[in-house]
Amino acid sequence: MGRAFVYVILGGGVAAGYAALEFTRRGVSEGELCIISEEPVAPYERPALSKGFLLPESPARLPSFHTCVGENDEKLTPKWYKEHGIELVLGTRVKSVDVRRKTLLSSTGETISYKFLIIATGARALKLEEFGVEGSDAENVCYLRDLSDANRLATAIQSSANGNAVVIGGGYIGMECAASLVINKINVTMVFPEAHCMARLFTPKIASLYEDYYRAKGVEFIKGTVLTSFEFDSNKKVTAVNLKDGNHLPADVVVVGIGIRPNTSLFEGQLTIEKGGIKVNSKMQSSDSSVYAIGDVATFPVKLFGEMRRLEHVDSARKSARHAVSAIMEPEKTGEFDYLPFFYSRVFAFSWQFYGDPVGEVVHFGEFEEGKTFGAYWIKKGHLVGSFLEGGSQEEYETISKATRLKPAVTDVEELGRVGLEYAETV
Ligand code: FAD
Repeated sequence: MGRAFVYVILGGGVAAGYAALEFTRRGVSEGELCIISEEPVAPYERPALSKGFLLPESPARLPSFHTCVGENDEKLTPKWYKEHGIELVLGTRVKSVDVRRKTLLSSTGETISYKFLIIATGARALKLEEFGVEGSDAENVCYLRDLSDANRLATAIQSSANGNAVVIGGGYIGMECAASLVINKINVTMVFPEAHCMARLFTPKIASLYEDYYRAKGVEFIKGTVLTSFEFDSNKKVTAVNLKDGNHLPADVVVVGIGIRPNTSLFEGQLTIEKGGIKVNSKMQSSDSSVYAIGDVATFPVKLFGEMRRLEHVDSARKSARHAVSAIMEPEKTGEFDYLPFFYSRVFAFSWQFYGDPVGEVVHFGEFEEGKTFGAYWIKKGHLVGSFLEGGSQEEYETISKATRLKPAVTDVEELGRVGLEYAETV
């Protein structure tokens, strides 16, 4: 026995929430749409987990950050789904999918069939075990992908006041968690193999400004090395970590942010996989015409770069979700997904945005100081392809975004550095 829906969204994260909103805007009837998610709560804005959720004073808690609060849209609480006739199947893992038969099998043994399936399974945090380190299931070792991870980290923070934290990984999860730990009065050491933080995006000059600020807040950086083992007490709590370079660091809490892996396993052998994600066309449609993929799990054509990309950013989850729903409901009226990659982060009083592709020659501009506005442009084959801005106004972010999308020709790179932000205004 099972239930049948016209539309099924598999996964209940950011992309699922934005897809649901788009479905209601375009008009779905009661009982046509179902969202099935392993998480026990309705879709929420995941970025809040490493920011507001970890604050010592008035931390963000649901329902305050359900989607689509980030876009000044309606906040989609469980009541909202009910009122819109959307079936929300929570706390339920999908065990298998039969794309040919158009059915899903849930962990409760229910078969759900669909006419259109949207895969929004996102990604999972990479575990240290995958790199040969054992013991990361200890209660004071924290990953951060979902609400249960965030609750575990918040509890570990509470019991580590004035203690020591080791943050493994120098990406945005590591940087945002380190800032939150400092705000919670915990001594932080960050460990990562690269030469500087945010190595996939930041230039050495940008990274050194943030790192200096973190150091001034008491954060220590140990670079060029990795964690090799944990030490435990008799309760199986981690007491220290050992690094490959011989360092031994006492730890009350360990936060691990070493990357993610898209959740594609249900579809391997059934759909085309590319660059680790489910390959879709410019309508977010997979190699099976009834199946679409959105968010972190989708590899889609980024027209601007003429390349297939899989992005791990919230803006792309939101926009790809809307596009897929539009393509399903109004295929004739829906053009190609023409997306400008966008990513942001907030740590302490810093706030930056990045648009485009961080490749090619880099030109820095502005005053590289805390509280000031500064940034960088990336130029590839004589064209502006990427822009980074710290401390900008909303208007300034929009300006660099528009300029980057146009990929203007840059003839004088030195001049670009001199005029800085004003250049984007003239494009
Ligand atoms: P997700 O939001 O991960 O949702 C996937 C959902 O699918 C989950 O509910 C999961 O439980 C469910 N699922 C998976 N498999 C199954 C299954 N078999 N059965 C049932 N359900 C399943 N991006 C930015 O641009 N800026 C930021 O500042 C930023 N901060 C972040 C902070 C944190 C802590 C995290 C974790 C991410 C952050 N991101 C940020 C990234 C952003 O949150 C993701 O890009 C976004 O959540 C992707 O949305 P998604 O819907 O594709 O996947």
